[in-house]
Amino acid sequence: MAQSAEKVLDHSALFQTPEYKELFERKRVFEHTVPVDEVKKTCDWTKTWEYREINFSREVLTINPAKACQPLGAVMAAAGFEGTLPYVHGSQGCVAYFRSHFNRHFKEPVSAVSDSMTEDAAVFGGLTNMVDGLANAYALYKPKMIAVSTTCMAEVIGDDLDAFIKTAKDKGSIPKDFPVPFAHTPSFVGSHVTGYDNMLKGCLTHFWEGRERKESASININGGFDGYCVANLREVKRLLAEMDVEYTVLSDTSDVYDTPTNGEFNMFAGGTRYDDAVNALHAKGTIFMQGISAAKSAEYVEKVGQKAVSLHCPIGVAGTDAFLMAVSELTGKPIPASLELERGRLVDAIADSQAYLHGKKFALFGDPDMLLGLTGFLLELGAEPVHIVCTNSTKDFVEKMEQLLAASPFGQEAKLWPGKDLWHMRSLLATEPVDFLIGSSHGKYLERDTGTPLIRIGFPIFDRHHHHRFPIWGYQGGLNVLVKILDKIFDTLDASTVDGSPSFDLVR
Ligand code: SF4
Repeated sequence: MAQSAEKVLDHSALFQTPEYKELFERKRVFEHTVPVDEVKKTCDWTKTWEYREINFSREVLTINPAKACQPLGAVMAAAGFEGTLPYVHGSQGCVAYFRSHFNRHFKEPVSAVSDSMTEDAAVFGGLTNMVDGLANAYALYKPKMIAVSTTCMAEVIGDDLDAFIKTAKDKGSIPKDFPVPFAHTPSFVGSHVTGYDNMLKGCLTHFWEGRERKESASININGGFDGYCVANLREVKRLLAEMDVEYTVLSDTSDVYDTPTNGEFNMFAGGTRYDDAVNALHAKGTIFMQGISAAKSAEYVEKVGQKAVSLHCPIGVAGTDAFLMAVSELTGKPIPASLELERGRLVDAIADSQAYLHGKKFALFGDPDMLLGLTGFLLELGAEPVHIVCTNSTKDFVEKMEQLLAASPFGQEAKLWPGKDLWHMRSLLATEPVDFLIGSSHGKYLERDTGTPLIRIGFPIFDRHHHHRFPIWGYQGGLNVLVKILDKIFDTLDASTVDGSPSFDLVR
């Protein structure tokens, strides 16, 4: 064997050894019975306009959607409260997927449990699983709160979470006064951002329902489903501190997904403190950094008497301006000179790089609010968004994106593709090529297949490390996004000079 304890080979080296090459060749005989040139011919045909039309006429099949299912988002929303164990009423495989998804993105251990529904529960209902599951979760992991969401299976059979949790309490699984907010998160509608919204609303309802509100000077911030929550929320807190603003972050995942290596495993690190979450009812208002993805929570916030401000990922100059002005308007505090300086530095950086950004064409895919933030920034840079694919699009998103594009000369060529998936994106890139693609790690297959260089911004980022530790919101975040884009532009430019071109310049 090539692999040995003395010399452990990574798979990229291991699979190049003769025994593996031979093994793959033998497998090919069974797996690829179609001749190689036939495969290539078909593959080339699927990059034509003819195939694009067939591809875009499909109605009942989704191929590689740029979204995940609702409970994944519910797990993130729940994890942002102190000592909270996300609990998914459904099968174990689903929760393994949620844990590993976050795990691979944040490179962190991620706590979430299921009550392991199997075939019998699918037939007779999952009440017994809830009774046993809550008892086990409470006894084993000693959380301060358990937040329950559902998977497809529980929703298809119509399990009633409210009734089940009450019954589990009556049966003594957990103390009667133990906090168990919940949200139904049917996975076959919406996406991870809908699930986030449902669970956030479930938690806020649990904290605030039946309490009297007395307005305070404080404000609330919610980051929404955000793969950059670790750095973004810290950046938001820094900006609020600069403005001397009193605030509560609702679902604060900044420390949850960034625990230090200090010799101790902390299952419940960070999160919004329970009392703070309850007192957040008195805030003047709540700023949702991803408003489209938090529509139901925003409605609830207004119902209790607060002002709800819906932003769309403050990436770049205008996005950050909008955030700071919203804070200033809610609190009456002025925007300090220190932040004006930061703004000026970002504008300066953009101007420094203008020659390389102007007129570059981009394709983008991702969540609605993220796409609005990124597109706004691209337009600010003088770059041109061309294809915008949003699998989990909403009517509100379409209206806002169309307005954004119409307002800029650089948005005139852009076409929005609501509800489409990454196989549609492949057709778009093959038939109407662009200079760069922006999206999550899932775009790497499109990069290789269509030759469109990928700039990794979004969720999940599985194949690169620590991106989530650098903010993409605020003026500093804008600078980070600018550098990500420019690095790819320069790498691509350098790669285009390998044939001995004199343009392999030291100074760009
Ligand atoms: S779509 Fe349904 S079955 Fe699949 S992971 Fe989500 S909840 Fe589980």
